[in-house]
Amino acid sequence: MRTLYFGKWMYTADEKGTVLKDFGMLAEDGRIVWIKPRQEAEEETADKVVTLGESYVAPGFIDSHVHLVPDGGWNEETPNEERKNAALVCEGVSNARELLKAGVVACRDLGSYKGYALGIRDAVKKGLLEGPEIMACGRAVCARGGHGYEIGYEVNGANEMRGAVRQVVKDGADVVKIMASGGVNSPGPEPGPCELTKEEIWCAVETAHAWGRKAGVHAHGNTAIRRCVEAGVDSVEHGVFMTEDIMDMMAEMGTFLVPTLCAPYYAVTEGLKREPDNPDHAKSREVLKRHRDVLKRCAEKGVKIAMGTDAGCPFNPFREAAYEMVLMVEAGLTPGQALDAATRGGAGLLGLDSLGSLEAGKAASFVCLSGNPLEEIEQVRNVEAVYLNGKKVNLE
Ligand SMILES: [Zn+2]
Repeated sequence: MRTLYFGKWMYTADEKGTVLKDFGMLAEDGRIVWIKPRQEAEEETADKVVTLGESYVAPGFIDSHVHLVPDGGWNEETPNEERKNAALVCEGVSNARELLKAGVVACRDLGSYKGYALGIRDAVKKGLLEGPEIMACGRAVCARGGHGYEIGYEVNGANEMRGAVRQVVKDGADVVKIMASGGVNSPGPEPGPCELTKEEIWCAVETAHAWGRKAGVHAHGNTAIRRCVEAGVDSVEHGVFMTEDIMDMMAEMGTFLVPTLCAPYYAVTEGLKREPDNPDHAKSREVLKRHRDVLKRCAEKGVKIAMGTDAGCPFNPFREAAYEMVLMVEAGLTPGQALDAATRGGAGLLGLDSLGSLEAGKAASFVCLSGNPLEEIEQVRNVEAVYLNGKKVNLE
């Protein structure tokens, strides 16, 4: 099946950041064969012609940090364990669908209750569900009683760490998620205290890599980030208390930063509105500026950036995933840099060769926006249509 698309504007997100005006794009079985000026393309034939009208076309977004199945309080509502679990899986499916509506064509789940995201990933892969392509870690790995233990395996010592990482891989994980630090407000010797020893972190990264999986770490505090980067992790998630020397090290080693600005943003705006006395939300407000400055400095220093929202965390909606790009621009990135983080950046981190840009050989997975996102980044939220492997998604 050969489909020819005609449109007036496209940001390809290729290495040069090419913008095309009045283009024709041929896709065969969901893969791009070529993209040409409209006039040349009009001479070609295809089984189907699709007119994208006045839309601004960009590659489908990649959200590199979500939690499709957080344990969202079904416990109190539903004492029956099986019923609760079934509802949680359905919630995860619905969340994946919301991401798709936001223009997200691939996501990385970094910790789900009982590892349920792995099964949702499989269902999408089998074609049972129309959803974004999912890369998932299943359960995260954390210190006993440490941050995220509700969605993770708890370990003590390097040997248990090795076992847990192997178990995660055995469970079917695409990526290994390590919880290296507490939250910004956890008690300890520094903000975002390190909860794992150096040996545990080295062992986690070494084992993940030995089994061909990348390692992503939740790390807020300076000690945790430093230990993780030194150990060779592939991505630092959050990274709030990162210092310049660590940024230099990340730039040199090619370590990604996934800042997840949405996490503190929603904690501050929504959290404080609904739970004004919760000290965690007030703390998030204090770190907002620091967090944004870290992103800006990292970008200036050439650290690789991928967009991730942390959707699934309290008050952090899947449907608003693209808002992360708006926050990135508020932090000081250009709209082009934010778009690149959400497209080619994410594809690089997730290892998804067919996504991240619109070029020959890549998937015809793209979004149609109602305005020019390079001029006004808010336009990434105005998604008129989403195409997944050449097929228009029903967004109703
Ligand atoms: Zn997270």
